[in-house]
Amino acid sequence: MFESLSDRLSGVFDRLTKQGALSEDDVKTALREVRVALLEADVSLPVARDFVKKVQDKATGQAVTKSVTPGQQVVKIVHDELVAVLTGEGDPGALKIDNPPAPILMVGLQGGGKTTTTAKLAKRLKEREGKRVLMASLDVYRPAAMQQLDVLGRQIGVDTLPIVPGEKPVDIAKRAKTQASLGGYDVYMLDTAGRLHIDDVLMGEVEQVSAVVSPRETLLVVDGLTGQVAVEVAQEFDDKVGISGVVLTRMDGDGRGGAALSMRAVTGKPIRFVGLGEKMDALETFEPDRIAGRILGMGDIVALVEKAQETIEAEQAEKMMRRFQKGQFNMNDLKLQFEQMQKMGGMESVMGMMPGMGKMAKQAAEAGLDDKVINRQIALINSMTKRERANPQILQASRKKRIAAGAGQEVSELNKLIKMHRQMSDMMKKLGKMGKGGMLKQAMK
Ligand code: GDP
Repeated sequence: MFESLSDRLSGVFDRLTKQGALSEDDVKTALREVRVALLEADVSLPVARDFVKKVQDKATGQAVTKSVTPGQQVVKIVHDELVAVLTGEGDPGALKIDNPPAPILMVGLQGGGKTTTTAKLAKRLKEREGKRVLMASLDVYRPAAMQQLDVLGRQIGVDTLPIVPGEKPVDIAKRAKTQASLGGYDVYMLDTAGRLHIDDVLMGEVEQVSAVVSPRETLLVVDGLTGQVAVEVAQEFDDKVGISGVVLTRMDGDGRGGAALSMRAVTGKPIRFVGLGEKMDALETFEPDRIAGRILGMGDIVALVEKAQETIEAEQAEKMMRRFQKGQFNMNDLKLQFEQMQKMGGMESVMGMMPGMGKMAKQAAEAGLDDKVINRQIALINSMTKRERANPQILQASRKKRIAAGAGQEVSELNKLIKMHRQMSDMMKKLGKMGKGGMLKQAMK
């Protein structure tokens, strides 16, 4: 079992205060642990070192969110940076398969999961994108491998190119191309031969095939559990034939996924898919978020820090509640309410979430109390002076005129706002008197 990064860090940070900004020393200490965690997750040393350096600059001086430890805060920063590094350009699942028939070349070492992935991907293209796919095995050295693709093809209902004994890989590729054109296929996938190790014959063959079909995508399939080896293989293939992306298989195993980071950092190639099992459906689009959590062994920390940020908002709300109890609800409070509504996705969604408010939300929407209206009301409040906001009762005719004009609206609009403020103020007083428990009890009736 790996010791999780959060365990490591909690030891380091026990002595530190829980508040204030992260000092350079705090960050350095934490990042030493982060580096060990990365190495344990199979990230290569130079990549881990580089990564940590980058995070160091970002983390130093950042404010520590209340209710989390500095260690947890560092982990969140590390996590976000991991996601940033792992994220490639564009959607990893979007394959370039316009201009039919589009060739996809599958390359990799033997046993990496190439044949399985070819079939998984074909199934995905067929089912999710409605593509007609033709698969062909170029592994002339292992008749069993050709048979395997054939069997998988039948299993998933995807055509395979008939096997002609003795045919050379380049000729099979040419035949697949012709067949794909004649047969009206959208995509044809070439499952090249794998070897136990990179060798020149294998590479020469892949190069030849690549030259003949000009693949739109050349996907390298590598075993995600092999870590450093996978990265070397990727570099080798990229140098020789140029790859457009990587599929990491066996990510259902208990490896920590560090290969993904090294792969991305060293080759710069995007990870497109991950294999999560032997079944034909066990292929998913690469999600940086999930791998980052896995590398750190701690998706929970990220959630915790996010929760802590929410807690702070809850603390603000509680403070407000205390003000309401005392009958204090001014225009600043109203503005805050409006802003929170907007932040949470608008009036309707906020009210929809509150027990018993669903109907009111509908009425509000029908009455035209939508987000545009909220913006106009905030504009009115902004146009008030500090004193007016704190004491809405002083709003007499001349002030009203000035405020409305300042917001580019009619006085009648302002009157509506003032009326709403008064109603809400009354309601808040009542709610405040009931208190938290009272409100809940009320809602449960
Ligand atoms: P190839 O030699 O590269 O074509 O490899 P295969 O496609 O024949 O796969 C080798 C073995 O790995 C097979 O038993 C597959 O079922 C298995 N395999 C492939 N991908 C995955 C994966 O994502 N997870 C797991 N657990 N097994 C996989």
